[in-house]
Amino acid sequence: MSLTVTPPSAFNEPAPSALLLLGRGADLASERGVECPGDLPAASDPDLVDRARAARAALGDRAFVLGHHYQRDEVIDFADVTGDSFKLAREAAARPEAEFILFCGVHFMAESADILTSDAQQVVLPDLAAGCSMADMAAIHQVEDAWDVLLDAGVAEDTVPVTYMNSSAAIKAFTGRHGGTVCTSSNAHVALRWAFDRVGGVEGSGKVLFMPDQHLGRNTAVRQLGLSLDDCVVFDPRKPGGGLTAQELRDARMILWRGHCSVHGRFTERNVVEARAAVPGINVIVHPECRHEVVAAADQVGSTEHIIKALDAAEPGSAWAIGTELNLVRRLANAHPDKQVHYLDSTVCFCSTMNRIDLPHLVWAMESLVAGRVVNRIVVDPDDARWARAALDQMLALPGI
Ligand code: SF4
Repeated sequence: MSLTVTPPSAFNEPAPSALLLLGRGADLASERGVECPGDLPAASDPDLVDRARAARAALGDRAFVLGHHYQRDEVIDFADVTGDSFKLAREAAARPEAEFILFCGVHFMAESADILTSDAQQVVLPDLAAGCSMADMAAIHQVEDAWDVLLDAGVAEDTVPVTYMNSSAAIKAFTGRHGGTVCTSSNAHVALRWAFDRVGGVEGSGKVLFMPDQHLGRNTAVRQLGLSLDDCVVFDPRKPGGGLTAQELRDARMILWRGHCSVHGRFTERNVVEARAAVPGINVIVHPECRHEVVAAADQVGSTEHIIKALDAAEPGSAWAIGTELNLVRRLANAHPDKQVHYLDSTVCFCSTMNRIDLPHLVWAMESLVAGRVVNRIVVDPDDARWARAALDQMLALPGI
């Protein structure tokens, strides 16, 4: 047997990789982690909460703090409003008097807030390492290459791009340039129907290129538009031609980007079976970013806002197994002591990048603003912002939005 010995230098040189470790390196153009350049307060600082209160009071109406549903409690305590990514971006746009928008969420959300707010408003992401692994699964050069593949297959003219909110501003801009729309997990069915109507209707032969979450695209097309699983193909940007033949692209109706959420992708059909066995009569409610078989096995499927409303409306004493991010599920359990709230997975499932925003980062960002320094400002390239805005405006013009 022969042994391969790695030369010592190989240990010193970082291996070339598409992946940057969170919090290290610098790649502002992507959702990947970058260094936080400031001197953060220690998490153990006993005055941290008082410092946060003092900085928040000093900023007053000049600042508006947005907190995504998946943020930590210590951050949500300082949020002026909580919600999903689209609701938060609209809330920011509705407060033109706020000079600073502190976005406690992830990078693509802060980009959307920058696109939807005025030039006089500055959007701050307290930790630049708070990216989104799903958004990072679709880089703009990959999407442009994919469109070339569709052109070569002769299907681009009959294809409308639809991108989930959870994508970079560059992908939203690509979608706007190609006459498509953005969607959220609440309105994906309306967006898909609109897109198919542009190329002959759901019954026709036109196609949608859905990015970057294959699960939301598949679940919506099959459950709400009546397409079949065979109508869906997965385009893998790491394979030549997306791993598909030209004929497969011609036959498909939904061309799903090979992306997924690292949190919701963890839930399995087995989790659903085990929850039902453990608590007879339990209601299983999951987010549409979960895999198709999980969604098919659940009782209800819906966005974070839908899940919150379902729990609000639930009968006292009812039991629920919830398949979404753990910070939100824990808060729901605390808000509904009269109901049994279970987490669908047996292991914890926080969104690691959402959790990058903690109280030390928020205090640092707010104290910096009080001192006259704007840190971690998120600015979208003006041309991308114009086209991304076109795709977002198209979403707002969809019926029933
Ligand atoms: S929960 Fe999933 S989609 Fe949301 S920010 Fe985290 S990785 Fe991205």
